[in-house]
Amino acid sequence: MSTTQTAPARDVESAVRVISHWIDGAERRSTSGRTAPVFNPATGAVQAEVALADQAEIDEALASAQRGYQLWSGYSIAKRQAVMFAFRELLNARKQELAEIITAEHGKVVSDAMGEILRGQEVVELATGFPHLIKGAFSENASTGIDVYSLKQPLGVVGIISPFNFPAMVPMWFFPVAIAAGNAVVLKPSEKDPSAALWLAKLWQEAGLPDGVFTVLQGDKLAVDGLLESPVVQSISFVGSTPIAQYIYETASKHGKRVQALGGAKNHMLVLPDADLDLVADQAVNAGYGAAGERCMAISVVLAVEPVADDLIAKISERIAKLRIGNGAGVDGVEPDMGPLITDVHRDKVATYVDIAEADGAKIVVDGRGLSVEGHEDGFFFGPTLIDDLPTSSRAYTEEIFGPVLSVVRVQSYDEGVDLINSGQFGNGTAIFTNDGGAARRFQNEVQVGMIGINVPIPVPVAYHSFGGWKQSLFGDAKAYGVHGFDFFTREKAITARWIDPATRHDTDHGGINL
Ligand code: NAD
Repeated sequence: MSTTQTAPARDVESAVRVISHWIDGAERRSTSGRTAPVFNPATGAVQAEVALADQAEIDEALASAQRGYQLWSGYSIAKRQAVMFAFRELLNARKQELAEIITAEHGKVVSDAMGEILRGQEVVELATGFPHLIKGAFSENASTGIDVYSLKQPLGVVGIISPFNFPAMVPMWFFPVAIAAGNAVVLKPSEKDPSAALWLAKLWQEAGLPDGVFTVLQGDKLAVDGLLESPVVQSISFVGSTPIAQYIYETASKHGKRVQALGGAKNHMLVLPDADLDLVADQAVNAGYGAAGERCMAISVVLAVEPVADDLIAKISERIAKLRIGNGAGVDGVEPDMGPLITDVHRDKVATYVDIAEADGAKIVVDGRGLSVEGHEDGFFFGPTLIDDLPTSSRAYTEEIFGPVLSVVRVQSYDEGVDLINSGQFGNGTAIFTNDGGAARRFQNEVQVGMIGINVPIPVPVAYHSFGGWKQSLFGDAKAYGVHGFDFFTREKAITARWIDPATRHDTDHGGINL
């Protein structure tokens, strides 16, 4: 959950820069008098302050977005498509700049930042084909002389509220589709890494998007509530932790909005005894420790069907020993495998979960607590941690940790593993590792989770399918991107029309038609 921190007494890298809003096609300096610190997680220093909007700034952003919508929704499909293609070309050409911005504020290694951009770019590419996806349907002569057809129209001004862990990809799950469909977007990024959104706003302008169609409103709960409560905003797309997702879903619904609110996760990997354990160990390390575990699709629990647990733990431990942890930007051109966590507060929360696991009787096989990285002693680092025999009653098992902590739970059978997955509060992603196709097929049918991997640890669907979990991982019934995305960002109108055939009319004027 996000907490707005006040800057502690620590190094400030330079004269403090203030990261502002993007309203009406320009950076808009905030006059709210409220800011939050933006850290460089690798050094622990405050590198900037981000503006936190007040009500006047929220109103200004929404008024501009309304004007943007009036203009943009009148653009022809061909003109909108030209802007979409230009945006895709610019993003593709300049994505390295964006990757470096993400790393500087989030901490993840640059290649990982690039990975998130590429997954976002997939959605931009999908959205360039929007004319086909927002076509209506036509039924001729539904009744004699009567045609019935449908139109898919944009909603108007739509709000996107995004989390810190994918400052480019998560907004890109939504805005390419929303904009292509003719809406105007107001994006409220995470206050922890707010610069990627501004960079994307400038790129849209270069691509020819009219001012007001893409707005960035920096802020905290006040800005979020402003979007949830405003009658101007027609829909909310939220991604973040489960308690906030539930709050967003309930509040936005109460204000009559369409809502999709994606929440937290606790993703399990079920390893059957016939699986290739070297492959499993490689994938578990990648999916558990990549991006320091700050991924909603990270694997956090390995359910090892005995007798594989001892061998698997040995193989994972060997691989952990080779991981290099450091500044995600790299040192002397060499990139580490894993960067720091987002804040010291979050690092300490992750450590608390390891303390809880230990107190509950689990064995800490590899302990990442207290890791110090040479030359970056004040950075928010936490080492890869491996826990064995985690009791399923422990809060370290039932709650989301969102850090580089992989726990092994030993089970005696496939059924015991599936029961555990299905009894959890979350249902975002899961994976099975096996060479038995029948078992995999049973798994995909029985498991109560929205996204499933078969020998694939992080099954994030491609852009032309849709992304979304079940249970406490998704509130609302619309997933992100794919066909769901286009349905979410358009409203359908059905028209029943009767045009009288001039030949059958009783008057003598045949409408100028020479019969
Ligand atoms: P968060 O819930 O703290 O914040 C998300 C957004 O909500 C931010 O923009 C923040 O400013 C805003 N916010 C925070 N507290 C608020 C409040 N009290 N009222 C109104 N708005 C508030 O989440 P986070 O820490 O930024 O991101 C990590 C979480 O996001 C994890 O739980 C992770 O699993 C989840 N996540 C889920 C998915 C998914 O697809 N299901 C994807 C990415 C991240």
